[in-house]
Amino acid sequence: MSDTPRKIGILGAGQLGRMLALAGYPLGLEFRFLDPAPDSPARHLGEFINAPYDDEAALAEFVTDLDLVTFEFENVPAHVLEYLETRLPAAPSRQALATGQDRLAEKTLFRELGIETSPFATIDSRADLERAVTELGLPAVLKTRRLGYDGKGQFVLRTTADIDRAWEELGDVPLLLEAFVAFDRELSIIAARGLNGETACYPLTENHHEEGILRLSRAPAPRLDQELQTTAERYAGLVLDQLGYTGVLTIELFQRGDQLLANELAPRVHNSGHWTIEGAETSQFENHLRAICGLPLGSTAPRGISAMLNLIGTTPDPAAVLAIPGAHLHLYGKEPRPRRKIGHITLRADDPETLRRRLDELQLSVG
Ligand code: AMP
Repeated sequence: MSDTPRKIGILGAGQLGRMLALAGYPLGLEFRFLDPAPDSPARHLGEFINAPYDDEAALAEFVTDLDLVTFEFENVPAHVLEYLETRLPAAPSRQALATGQDRLAEKTLFRELGIETSPFATIDSRADLERAVTELGLPAVLKTRRLGYDGKGQFVLRTTADIDRAWEELGDVPLLLEAFVAFDRELSIIAARGLNGETACYPLTENHHEEGILRLSRAPAPRLDQELQTTAERYAGLVLDQLGYTGVLTIELFQRGDQLLANELAPRVHNSGHWTIEGAETSQFENHLRAICGLPLGSTAPRGISAMLNLIGTTPDPAAVLAIPGAHLHLYGKEPRPRRKIGHITLRADDPETLRRRLDELQLSVG
């Protein structure tokens, strides 16, 4: 009992860190954050150290009296986690972090485990790109191997005439070319693995992006058949076990017919899992904390059906949102800016028709 961690250090103090802390206080946990951004959304939810991730003095202050360290941002330098792992328990591991930072490492892991992906090729030169375009065909998506998010660091090639522009835009860093997937829809599976190897998966979530940014998630995904869920859970289980993972992990997937292709993984709680706060028996945030603290995982069963709408760039009128039954507003305390996620709304209902009606109403009030 006394061995249960109490004080947790989180690298990154964004909205994910904020929601982790909000889930952790009822469990008696305390938090300390490290983040280079002074106005980080989690800055008021625990002790806050405002410094670069690789600042040695700040790291020494960060680890003092911590029981455990985790991260909410996947571009923390892997060597920082390597240093922290020598000082205290850290989860997920540096290997999981490093895998999630590099699309080639992710895709290679998927392939090694027999998880289907779209065909891809490593691109280190313009000649590689020309060869890969011939091999994979067009359309295809050129992606930076590292630091891509919300559709940044990507270029869709439709004809060979696009090669020049794509190379000009992205050619100065290591790249991947992927065959374009004419998917029916995008899904994600959020899974947790405990210290003892116990795993639990949430129902698949259906995700809709606008301009590369997640706008709307629905969970459980509409028209979800058991076979699809079983395949996604098998993929997640393979990745979790291979990485000896502890915590919550997300795999983004493309569905094409009855086929599921893995696109990428995130070694952390995920935007497409925010619905679990009100829409599941145990939220992804609580389950991440339970996992890394060596506590039993909580049920991932849905509570009715949910839709999660991201608030991007502007804040709606809170009163209009909250007037809708089943609507839960989450604001992250961020300054509104174009293309910036500043909050989300989860709508919960007991049947699809009610959810659809409330979502129409919500979309009108959010604009
Ligand atoms: P990613 O950063 O890999 O998640 O890509 C961002 C978005 O671009 C995805 O959510 C898809 O909508 C789209 N996308 C990425 N890769 C492909 C692909 N190989 N084929 C079709 N669409 C893609």
